[in-house]
Amino acid sequence: MSGVTFNRNRVKLKKLLGIRARLALLAVILVAPLMLERARSLEYTRAKQIAAASEEFANITQHSADTQREVISSVETMLKSAAYIRASGGIARSCEILRASLPTNLPWIRSIMFVSKDGLVQCSTLNMQVGLSLGDREYFKKTQATRDFVFSDYLFGKTNGRPMMMAAYPVAAINPEEDAVVVAGINIDWLSKIMTNLGGRPGISSLLVDSTGVVIAAPSDQSSMIGRPLDNVPLLAAIAEKALGSDAPTGSLSFTASDGSKRTISFARIPGTQSRLIVSIDEARVTAAINREIRTAYLQLGFVCLFVLLGALVGAEKLIIGPIELMTGMARRFGEGDWSARVARSRLPSEFVPLARAFNAMAAQLSQRERELVATNDRLTVMASIDMLSGLANRRGFQSRLDFEWMKAQQYDSELSLLMIDVDHFKLYNDTYGHPEGDACLSRLGETLAVIAADTMGFAGRYGGEEFCLLLPNTETARALEIGEMVRAAVQGLGLPHATSSHQTVTVSVGVACTKPNDSQRPGDLIEAADAALYAAKHRGRNAVVEHGFVRMVDEAGMALAG
Ligand code: GH3
Ligand code: MG
Ligand code: MG
Repeated sequence: MSGVTFNRNRVKLKKLLGIRARLALLAVILVAPLMLERARSLEYTRAKQIAAASEEFANITQHSADTQREVISSVETMLKSAAYIRASGGIARSCEILRASLPTNLPWIRSIMFVSKDGLVQCSTLNMQVGLSLGDREYFKKTQATRDFVFSDYLFGKTNGRPMMMAAYPVAAINPEEDAVVVAGINIDWLSKIMTNLGGRPGISSLLVDSTGVVIAAPSDQSSMIGRPLDNVPLLAAIAEKALGSDAPTGSLSFTASDGSKRTISFARIPGTQSRLIVSIDEARVTAAINREIRTAYLQLGFVCLFVLLGALVGAEKLIIGPIELMTGMARRFGEGDWSARVARSRLPSEFVPLARAFNAMAAQLSQRERELVATNDRLTVMASIDMLSGLANRRGFQSRLDFEWMKAQQYDSELSLLMIDVDHFKLYNDTYGHPEGDACLSRLGETLAVIAADTMGFAGRYGGEEFCLLLPNTETARALEIGEMVRAAVQGLGLPHATSSHQTVTVSVGVACTKPNDSQRPGDLIEAADAALYAAKHRGRNAVVEHGFVRMVDEAGMALAG
């Protein structure tokens, strides 16, 4: 049972893996390594382009950070020179100089002020700031503690409540005797303006955040973020965590944002401050162009594959399946008996030509055999209806001719006569001369009858033993009797010696019957009638011609006498 199932499965598999499928598979196997190699190189290109993009963004980050750094360092320089002014003179004189020297080419510096050690603003380039107390500010305490330049975190101005940042430098850093502090108010808008100039690329957002993660500056399209802690912005929460958690001055990292987009960020610490510049890249947007390019390449690859497959299939169809079907068709036609079926070699690929030639040769030989077979059959049919001894038709041949002539006579309403001819005392002849001599005698009689048949448009046959018959179409009784007499006389005229016969020569008795065939009669009736006439002829003394129904006696000289 399992063997049968196995075989059936194999047949199914064979059907499935026809030549077309196999060639397609072969094409795929051949093309697959090339495709894989191409796909690999495409993926490599993609990775390289993304890496190049990342590097470019890192550079942008660095460049942005450097620009911000320049801004801050210009503030630091300003504060230091103000500290020199303060250190070298009294407060009144210093204030005068300060007001006179505030440069106009640093628009991000909103104001510069001298602050006493306990935080009281003693003088400022902005009058309304005088008298304010900055003693509680973190940056103020820090600059006094560190005796170094301090850049504040994001805060709100004391006079107008607007967001700003402050930078502070202790005069003590220049003159340890002096405990005043120089403070500058920084215009945040200006930092954002710089961001706008640096960013502005689709998919990139750059932000400046302070040490607590509050956004200090953002490009104009994201200005709503300014003043908000980075942690609360879902998309950038991860940035806050990673960038702020890192101590490295610069770096980059990739992550999936809460909205599912893959982002890469580069961050750089602004030297001398706790601020960090964060450039975030939406990978999908940045790589969109690259992906589009890669997609097109994959599409081309797909088309190449498709064309190779189609090529393989069309090739298989044209070079293998087509010729096989052509030859199969020819073989089928040939099998159905169309002996003229031949394969047109010109329509076949050269590899099939020997096969086609062999097929055509086989077809030619088979059709030749067929012709020979038909001829042999015809010969056998003829032989089957011929008597070899007399050369006349045998009983079978005679019978079928009788049927044919009967039909014809009936159709044309003509008369049909039959002569039954029997050798007289042939048993005695055999006894006297021997059987072979008897055969020779029958052969001579056959020849004689053939001649008479040809002369009278009749058909002669050997009905059996030593009995012959002569069928005479279109012959009425009188003419049939004449021919019967012709036969009798011709045989006697041969003068074949027959010592034991009363006539001394071989003679025959002839029974004649004639009719106009009609539906009430059968051919057998004509034979019976002729037989009866023959019997009568024998009864009359032999060597006689008798017509059915009446007898005609023949004398020695061959004269017919009415009976
Ligand atoms: P009848 O005059 O009454 O016809 O006498 P008969 O002897 O001819 O008639 P019968 O029917 O008694 O004998 C026919 C003989 O013909 C018997 C047989 O030996 C002989 N005969 C039949 N066929 C052949 C044959 O093919 N060759 C030879 N040599 N003899 C044959
Ligand atoms: Mg006989
Ligand atoms: Mg006889």
